[in-house]
Amino acid sequence: MSDWERSSTARVLPPARPRKLAKVPFAELTEGRLQGVVSSGSDIGRVYVSSVAAGSYTFACSTNNNRPCGGARGTFCNHILAMVDEAALQYGADRVARYLRVEVAGEVTGSAIASAMTGTRPAQGDSGAAATVFSRFLRHLAYLELPPTTAPLPEMQWFPPTRAVV
Ligand SMILES: [Zn+2]
Repeated sequence: MSDWERSSTARVLPPARPRKLAKVPFAELTEGRLQGVVSSGSDIGRVYVSSVAAGSYTFACSTNNNRPCGGARGTFCNHILAMVDEAALQYGADRVARYLRVEVAGEVTGSAIASAMTGTRPAQGDSGAAATVFSRFLRHLAYLELPPTTAPLPEMQWFPPTRAVV
């Protein structure tokens, strides 16, 4: 390990596989939740803030303006499903399953994790965390404004090391 890896407060993990940031620009496993920011399929100016709690799978989805997601009534919406899929690509499906405390029979994939969670009929939580998640996302985006450097920035690792965003 290099000095910057040892001294980093954030654990640095290479993405398990490159993923499409245009769809889910931000996903993280933190504070006992999988949480992230998901692009609206129809409106380029709108994003959704989605989260699923480890253990209980209590879920929430709302826009960045704190309007409730119409698709997240009673069960996971497409934004949450996309976030689970992309998190499985970024962190590895096994790690996501472990973090969320999901038991998957058979091959562990994003969709297997999601269906194991929906099978427990999880409760819908409030969107109280959305503002926090969104401001964390904006903080990550702020790194785009840093002057170019070849020194590693651990928090930038959600960008794929190669290739442009599709
Ligand atoms: Zn949603």
